[in-house]
Amino acid sequence: MILTHEHKEIYNTAKKFVVEELNPHIDEWEAAGIWPAREVLKKMGDLGLLGITKPVEYGGLGLDYSYELMFAFALGNCRNGGVPMGIGVVTDMATPALARFGSHELKKEFLEPTIKGDRVCSIAVSEAGAGSDVAGIKTTARRDGDDYVINGSKMWITNGTQADWACMLCNTGEGKVHQNKSLIIVPLDAKGIDRKTKLDKLGMRASDTAMIFLDNVRVPRRNLVGQEGMGFMYQMIQFQEERLFGAASGIDGLTNIINETIEYTRQRQAFGQSIVDNQYVHFRLAELKTEVECLKAMVFQACEQYVAGQDVMMLASMAKLKAGRVAREVTDSCLQFWGGQGFMWETNVARSYRDTRLLSIGGGADEIMLGIICKMMGILPGKRKAAELKAKREAA
Ligand SMILES: Cc1cc2nc3c(=O)[nH]c(=O)nc-3n(C[C@H](O)[C@H](O)[C@H](O)COP(=O)(O)OP(=O)(O)OC[C@H]3O[C@@H](n4cnc5c(N)ncnc54)[C@H](O)[C@@H]3O)c2cc1C
Repeated sequence: MILTHEHKEIYNTAKKFVVEELNPHIDEWEAAGIWPAREVLKKMGDLGLLGITKPVEYGGLGLDYSYELMFAFALGNCRNGGVPMGIGVVTDMATPALARFGSHELKKEFLEPTIKGDRVCSIAVSEAGAGSDVAGIKTTARRDGDDYVINGSKMWITNGTQADWACMLCNTGEGKVHQNKSLIIVPLDAKGIDRKTKLDKLGMRASDTAMIFLDNVRVPRRNLVGQEGMGFMYQMIQFQEERLFGAASGIDGLTNIINETIEYTRQRQAFGQSIVDNQYVHFRLAELKTEVECLKAMVFQACEQYVAGQDVMMLASMAKLKAGRVAREVTDSCLQFWGGQGFMWETNVARSYRDTRLLSIGGGADEIMLGIICKMMGILPGKRKAAELKAKREAA
């Protein structure tokens, strides 16, 4: 991928914002268990960073995903994972389907103010009983006149205690589980919504994560994204950007952790020499750096194909899988080389170890990524068995 002046401009603008506006406050927000989404997003909206790939008509920059990739890379310089995740929900997780399939009126009402930084949003798919198994969600949206009436609950919703609206996956029919769902834009101040429960987490501590309960919540039917019954498909498409963002936004952070570990082990002495001078240590750091570069190359490749309009289901899943695995390797090995200091709560490597653990779980666990890759390789037994059965039937 050839990087232009504009790519570098977006990267530099976003990195400067991270360094000057986010990093000085990260410790305070980690301790508070929440980031001031409204205040931060307003500043980012003013810089034009919240709608890089979104249509110009709604305040976006109308650029292709390679520019969003630069933004995601830059966010990796934030000294925690929770704030980039909260920002990524707004730019890459809750808005792609609305931008692509939503009506003009819906985009005017929800997308435009979100790109400006005037509204905070969430993506609400997971439920207590259905995370990996998205098709198994139980929340229903029943038609009643010009409204939907929504009942159910959503679990682990990022930005959930402070968002103004959520892009929510609901069952709108009784049919097949992949054809009975819809994405609905739900204003989170609607009557019947309870989202007070902020969850206590191992990492990503500056990001608020909520349980959302919905009791006869009325939402106008015009808040439907695209067509009714297409929600599962839209969400699978929307996951592509979520997964590309997830893979890309960790990369600079991992490089920084490796660099900080080199610095620390260079000045730390044991047995009369710097820790980094042990061959095991410097070879391992070289291996980790190599892994991060491989991940970056894969992310670039997936992005290039996505921009070219190709199906990146397999590459995006591979990049997300690889990101989770590389992050676990890098943070675990680096923490080891920091010794006791690495085990201290405030140390950057310890925070990274806690925060990046989510990469292998959120937005589709590693095993779900492996299932998708197997499916696309044609080696998922279910698909093969069905094909064998079909062939047998046709032969009989
Ligand atoms: C901090 C945080 C923030 C989150 N933010 C959001 C959000 O904003 N919006 C949202 O909708 N969701 C969000 N989630 C939910 C997240 O996407 C889910 O936790 C994730 O999809 C996994 O679902 P689950 O927790 O129900 O795990 P389960 O489905 O219970 O699976 C548990 C484990 O079982 C294994 N497993 C599952 N299925 C298979 C299989 N087919 N084959 C082999 N192994 C399998 C995997 O190891 C998996 O990790 C968030 C979660 C966390 C922790």
